[in-house]
Amino acid sequence: MATYDIATIEGDGIGPEVCAATVTVLKEALGSNLLSFNQFPGGASHYVKTGQVLPQETFDACNTSHAILHGAAGLPSVTYPDGTEVGNDLHLQLRFKLDLYANVRPIRLYQGDFSPLKNRQSGDIDYIIVRENTEGLYASRGAGVLLRGEVATDTLVLTRKGVSRIAKFAFELSRKRNGAPSDGVRRMTVCDKANILRSYAFFRSVCDEVAQDYPDVAIDYAYVDAITVHLVKRPEFYDVIVAENMFGDIISDLGAATVGGMGIAPSGELGDNHGLFQGAHGSAPDIAGQNIASPLATILSGSFMLRWLGDRHNDVSLITAAERIERAVEATLANGKAIPRDLGGLASCSEVTTEICRQLK
Ligand code: ATP
Repeated sequence: MATYDIATIEGDGIGPEVCAATVTVLKEALGSNLLSFNQFPGGASHYVKTGQVLPQETFDACNTSHAILHGAAGLPSVTYPDGTEVGNDLHLQLRFKLDLYANVRPIRLYQGDFSPLKNRQSGDIDYIIVRENTEGLYASRGAGVLLRGEVATDTLVLTRKGVSRIAKFAFELSRKRNGAPSDGVRRMTVCDKANILRSYAFFRSVCDEVAQDYPDVAIDYAYVDAITVHLVKRPEFYDVIVAENMFGDIISDLGAATVGGMGIAPSGELGDNHGLFQGAHGSAPDIAGQNIASPLATILSGSFMLRWLGDRHNDVSLITAAERIERAVEATLANGKAIPRDLGGLASCSEVTTEICRQLK
């Protein structure tokens, strides 16, 4: 009898292949039917067929399941008349409707030679970006104004409630970690542009207020332009970084590049009652359907899902399975038998999956 229902949306592009790989690994790790994966349609291709990017049935399943596992959504050619991509609406609707306010993006270097940075070893880069997921500039999606074809505006929205809860989330996360690799200091870096815009100065001031409750975590500040340099020059200084929605989106791609690329960057979008897990990458249509995508980002997102479920339900078997998957990924990367192409190897998506399952056995 399955205990946890997982709403699974494969989506577009490489979504189906990386999602299927993850389901295989999760089943192997749990060795039982503790999870029940129920597939639901959604995404840009589904929109082309039906006019719906997130069908009601899919939303209802996401709302009532214990967690959501997602491949990727979006195709560059499938756009609304205003030019924006349809596929993004799948996550955006889920983010807003399920209030998935914390987008957690771990950036961890598994092996020095995966990084384009010089002289970095495994573990030297190990921080988490906490991207605010329901406010900021992206909150204006679909509500911007285009005036007479001459002027376009989108409004950046920040609320006290939204900023304080994401700051609190980031401080709590830092408390659970062992600090930054360089000095072991638990540190929460506020990434903003407080020197230019009132909205970001507000973001910083609310983070400062929340910091009063966390004297054990050092608060640190970085303007978004400066942090792009720091994340390349001294990534080992960072522990947890909190950022407004769009800034978090941008710096997490940069962070992913420093540890090997989008194919190894997991992501979890968490609210108080729901969690959606998918790789930090998009649908990568350029490599879709060729069995060459890396499944690692989605597999690591799947293990993140197990940890989150295990914590919520006090279920040690899920946490143990998550640890086993992470060790199997590490072993796979270390033995060099199945390195995905984006990390310099030759292994296909299915070969990487098979090797991880072999390690789990
Ligand atoms: P989105 O805006 O939806 O996040 P994107 O436009 O940033 O998507 P991605 O789909 O993430 O783009 O792809 C960016 C690049 O990274 C592409 O060249 C793609 O092939 C590569 N890439 C993304 N995911 C993977 C993966 N899992 N394995 C290998 N390469 C990947």
